[in-house]
Amino acid sequence: MRIAMIGTGYVGLVSGASFADFGHEVTCVDQDATKIAALGRGQIPIFEPGLAELVARTTGSGRLKFATAIAPAVADVEIVFIAVGTPSRRGDGHADLSYVEAAAREIARAVRRFTVIATKSTVPVGTGDNIEKIVRDTAPNAECAVVSNPEFLREGAAIEDFRKPHRVVIGADDGRARDVMAAAYAPLKLPAASLLFVSRRTAELVKYAANAFLATKVGFINEIADLCGVVGADVEEVARGIGLDPRIGAKFLQPGPGYGGSCLPKDAVALRKTAEAAGVNLSIVSAAVDSNAARKRALAGKVEAAAGGSLKGKRVAVLGLSFKANTDDMRESPALVLVPALVAAGAAVRAHDPAAMAAAKSLLPDIDYTADPYAAAEGADALVILTEWDAYRELDLARLRQLMKEPLVVDFRNLFPPRAMAERGFRYVSLGRPAA
Ligand code: NAD
Repeated sequence: MRIAMIGTGYVGLVSGASFADFGHEVTCVDQDATKIAALGRGQIPIFEPGLAELVARTTGSGRLKFATAIAPAVADVEIVFIAVGTPSRRGDGHADLSYVEAAAREIARAVRRFTVIATKSTVPVGTGDNIEKIVRDTAPNAECAVVSNPEFLREGAAIEDFRKPHRVVIGADDGRARDVMAAAYAPLKLPAASLLFVSRRTAELVKYAANAFLATKVGFINEIADLCGVVGADVEEVARGIGLDPRIGAKFLQPGPGYGGSCLPKDAVALRKTAEAAGVNLSIVSAAVDSNAARKRALAGKVEAAAGGSLKGKRVAVLGLSFKANTDDMRESPALVLVPALVAAGAAVRAHDPAAMAAAKSLLPDIDYTADPYAAAEGADALVILTEWDAYRELDLARLRQLMKEPLVVDFRNLFPPRAMAERGFRYVSLGRPAA
């Protein structure tokens, strides 16, 4: 099957390369010529475990190609996936659909056969109708069916998620398009129960409902952690105690500095906007959004309080900048709120991240970056753990203790047992666990 993928970011590149690995012929298109040139040289523009090997294998086999122009890539394919960004629109929080709409116009002008246009980008309910109208207005004779195929992959585990998805959701109101989509995913040999054929509007909403639910779950355990911290309970045990109930489930019950990334924050806000426009009050989603924003704003105050009330003139090491481990994605990372607040409070910040420092440098220009975590800790009055990288779990704590000026560790990821940290001479502040 021939496939074009419009947008070669986290979703487009992983999906495109994976489809090529299934045996399809795929062209990944991006308007960013620098990105496409780098991919042409075999360089991977993002950090994603296993992606370099996957791209090398599929380009090597000739099944994966890259291009900057949409028209030749879509002219004679069965499916064109739209995987461009849908960021928050500045000012109002609605999803910015301008990239999706621009891509739809170009696709409509270029298709020459019956083509399924499948939206992988996360788009508000009703966007498929709008794409259909754009196609009709742009090219009245084009034979296209517009389908919603939301993507659920997680950065850091994206290839595994794409190959072994919990479900593939296909929102198609057209029988022919359903068959084409089923054929695209056939190599996955999914059990029938994991392949969900629903209406286009339902598929669009499944994605937002999933992300809003996850945002709520994270916000819930974060607030329970706050309560644990005050009443002397242990949030890790509370999480285990509730997570063993299959109605609740153990995943996404890890307290932290507030969710970030390219999806949860913008999608929860966009869903709230959709509901407002529909005259429906999603008060739970709304509370999760506000709670998460407040949590990020409170991070610096927690460090300040742990450091005795002032950070003026103090040196703070920050370990981890990406919004979660195993990605270099800085979008909506808690670091973008915490680090400027630490600087504003008078701290000199030295930061380290195993993958995100290149991306962070332009976003957080007023700090120093170090090649390893120990250099960040040298002479520090406090060390903050912000991202749950495995490399930090494996830190040589005795060496860290020796390098720091004051033995204060504020751990927003609960990477270490409080007792072990106390025994090593640290003053250890973590989330919702009794101090040792
Ligand atoms: P991204 O910013 O990494 O990539 C988007 C790419 O699209 C960019 O490279 C951009 O240059 C390109 N682009 C924009 N307009 C274009 C056009 N007209 N023609 C060609 N290329 C164009 O974004 P992403 O993280 O891959 O997300 C894409 C979509 O998938 C978003 O809607 C997002 O919400 C959704 N999504 C993301 C994830 C994730 O983990 N990143 C997971 C599931 C769904």
